[in-house]
Amino acid sequence: MDHDQHPVLRFHGATYCVTGSCYEIETPHWRILIDCGLFQGSKSERELNYGAFPFPPDAIDAVILTHAHIDHSGLLPKLVKQGFRGPIYATTATIDLCSVMLPDAAHIQETEVDQLNRRNAQRGRPLVEPIYRKEDAVACMPLFRVAQYGDWTTVAEGLRVRFWNAGHLLGSSSFELEIDGGGRSPMRIVFSGDIGPGHKLLQTDPQGPSGVDYLVCEATYGDRDRPDVSPDRRRTMLGEIVRGAVRANGPLIIPSFAVERTQELLVDLHLLMQTGEIPRAPIFVDSPLATRASAIFQRHADKIENGDVLRQALISAELRFTDTVEQSKAINRLTGFFVVIAASGMCDAGRIRHHLKANLWRKNATVMMAGYQVQGSLGRILLDGARRVRIQGEEIEVRANVTLFDLYSGHADAAELLDWIMARGPIGQSLFLTHGEEEGLAGLAERLKGSFPASRIIKPQLDDAFRLGPGGCVPIEINHARRLKPESVGRLDWHNDLSKLLLDVSEAVNSAADERGRAKIIRQIQRALAARGD
Ligand SMILES: [Zn+2]
Repeated sequence: MDHDQHPVLRFHGATYCVTGSCYEIETPHWRILIDCGLFQGSKSERELNYGAFPFPPDAIDAVILTHAHIDHSGLLPKLVKQGFRGPIYATTATIDLCSVMLPDAAHIQETEVDQLNRRNAQRGRPLVEPIYRKEDAVACMPLFRVAQYGDWTTVAEGLRVRFWNAGHLLGSSSFELEIDGGGRSPMRIVFSGDIGPGHKLLQTDPQGPSGVDYLVCEATYGDRDRPDVSPDRRRTMLGEIVRGAVRANGPLIIPSFAVERTQELLVDLHLLMQTGEIPRAPIFVDSPLATRASAIFQRHADKIENGDVLRQALISAELRFTDTVEQSKAINRLTGFFVVIAASGMCDAGRIRHHLKANLWRKNATVMMAGYQVQGSLGRILLDGARRVRIQGEEIEVRANVTLFDLYSGHADAAELLDWIMARGPIGQSLFLTHGEEEGLAGLAERLKGSFPASRIIKPQLDDAFRLGPGGCVPIEINHARRLKPESVGRLDWHNDLSKLLLDVSEAVNSAADERGRAKIIRQIQRALAARGD
């Protein structure tokens, strides 16, 4: 094979950050994408969603999709809107989840753009268009093609792919690619996708092939080890929080991701009620997406871990799925102990907002965050101990017991990532580390010392490209402007700094002893502003 016949691998996202996953492989015969995800990080990163793709969408022959999370699938509707007409290969569970998650992502964007345009109109600024609309999400669905775990699928001439269970989310996969070597043995490239942890409640441990030329691996938790908590121990600890809410004789409000986290909680709450460790009480799932996702989990229950318990949990007498906004609001007229699970998981959108508004001021309410809360989210602000928050334009005093229960993880930790990488060996050529922030990437590279030569570890930047040869890879000169300066990827940008400053100002003013104290702080800040540039 001539040098210029060798495949080129390009990194269009998830470089020094954890969102916007999208890799491209190009040969003289075909161009394919692995994932086509939405950027969800800082404002500078999110602006990439509105810009042009770094490739012509109609020149892409096929997409293979690792899993349904929006940071991996969320730009597929834009790709289709801009002319992509090829097949999208995914597992049936991923296709089912995409059929509800992509329209939901479109709905969120349309709502956000509507709000933004209302403000823009008031200020005389030009109106903006959403990245895509619901109909674009729906238009993706006929392009999906089913791939089964363990089977080889021919994606293009001289390219076949095998799906492996990544244990990260219902339907999630790692990919083993074989590219025809033109007389030589085929080139083998493995893409990890997102790797699940060991002992995940509803998924098997991640699997994969061994013996590869190139490996592209995620590094989300490359610098962190999670305490080794068994599913039983985790359930016991959840039971303790629930009993606290029972003693307070008030509601337990759980902001949760709609897909998989909600279903994990339902299984554990069901088991705790079955064994009498917590009293039987109504559990409301108050999220249209979580309701639809639960139906998909039920349909695929025979393929997942603890599927029989999940099935029982989903038909238990305590469980209620609320549909309309009226039903949702009626929940807060109940008294005593009950459970509400609602999205979004970080409290920034969705029905959880009105449950928080209705309950945060109650001393007998418990709010349990069911996962990591990113800097700047309402969930994080509450966990950091804010005494007042603004929700839907109203200031709410926080008197509820706010707590974090972060033991359900979707991701392998550093030790598990290292084990997964070693199990893929021998790795003949390079190991690319992606889907991690600076600390995660550096942490995983550090762990690999002694097991894999540092000279063959590559941490690509956004839009980096490499020509992959049978004896090693070479970087390709980028002769177009980079979409984002490398130093602004994955970092808190000035928008975050500003939000933090405004919160600090508000906190300082609110905590002043009296009216005079407040006036003094405001005068000091005004003086500092007036003096800038001196
Ligand atoms: Zn994921």
